[in-house]
Amino acid sequence: MAFSVRALIADDDKASAKLVEVLLQKWGIEAVVAHDGLEALEQVMQPEPPSLLILDWEMPGYSGIELCQKIRQIDMANPPYIIICTARDSAEHIAEGLNQGANDFVTKPFNTQVLRARMEVGRRTLELQARLVDAMTRLDHLASYDELTGLLNRRALFERLHEDFSRAVRTESRLCFSVCDIDWFKRINDKYGHPAGDAILRQLGELLSQQLRPYDRIGRIGGEEFLLLFSVKDAGRAHKVLERIRVEIERFRFEFEGRVIPVTMSFGATFVIPDERVERVEDYFSHADQALYQSKEKGRNLVTFFDNCV
Ligand code: GH3
Ligand code: MG
Ligand code: MG
Ligand code: MG
Repeated sequence: MAFSVRALIADDDKASAKLVEVLLQKWGIEAVVAHDGLEALEQVMQPEPPSLLILDWEMPGYSGIELCQKIRQIDMANPPYIIICTARDSAEHIAEGLNQGANDFVTKPFNTQVLRARMEVGRRTLELQARLVDAMTRLDHLASYDELTGLLNRRALFERLHEDFSRAVRTESRLCFSVCDIDWFKRINDKYGHPAGDAILRQLGELLSQQLRPYDRIGRIGGEEFLLLFSVKDAGRAHKVLERIRVEIERFRFEFEGRVIPVTMSFGATFVIPDERVERVEDYFSHADQALYQSKEKGRNLVTFFDNCV
């Protein structure tokens, strides 16, 4: 199906606006009409604004040129295609219109065939733009999220951790920083197969997300290793939360192709009172990791805090 656009016709001359509206209707382009610059800007600021704007130069409120300037100052993912349509036809006017952000310039009285062709150029340009924005959004998602679990990947997670720590300093909240790793995951893969291992990772990602609040942070930082960051009142509470999650995993029925697969996880953690030194995120990671190593050493399926293992 052809990519369809919605147009805005802004012209204080009602007859002129009507003429364009009737033509667009004939060409199958849906259009809204505004009779002054303010009304036109309101339309552009709607949540789902028209994408092809045909603006008269002189109008009360804002002129077509002022509208162009205003619209181009707004940071839009999908900026509109703007055609200035006016009786002004000097080279200076055309140049000014384009310099102020219009994509095209049509002089009145216009030739119907030419206007139609120019509208089609606009439609094609908008289609290309929409495709690019879509591809970029998908690439952005792929660059930040782990495909298997849908959780943040390591790089994206660490970027956000720095923000989380800065916010915690401002709001004077305390955090629990935990690294956790599935126990004997290699054996699980060996015994049940790699697809079963993948299914466990997916189910575990969901389970961990359910255990935390939406504003807590969670990510997959390696093969079978996850990172959790959540705000918590004190160290005792942090321990309780992780212990609850550990037990949830131990009790959860991980299933693959009708078989129930027992899974446990080891946790290392550190309780953090954030201060201004944001670079310490890496130190906390190292502390939590050392504590995780202790949980593994002590037999696995355990929660260990860094403060208790140095
Ligand atoms: P430990 O309790 O000491 O952590 O033992 P482990 O077997 O879990 O640790 P080890 O580091 O020896 O093995 C990790 C395994 O995780 C090996 C690797 O094949 C598996 N793994 C890593 N990423 C994936 C993945 O995306 N899918 C599957 N199915 N397995 C993965
Ligand atoms: Mg006018
Ligand atoms: Mg492991
Ligand atoms: Mg590991």
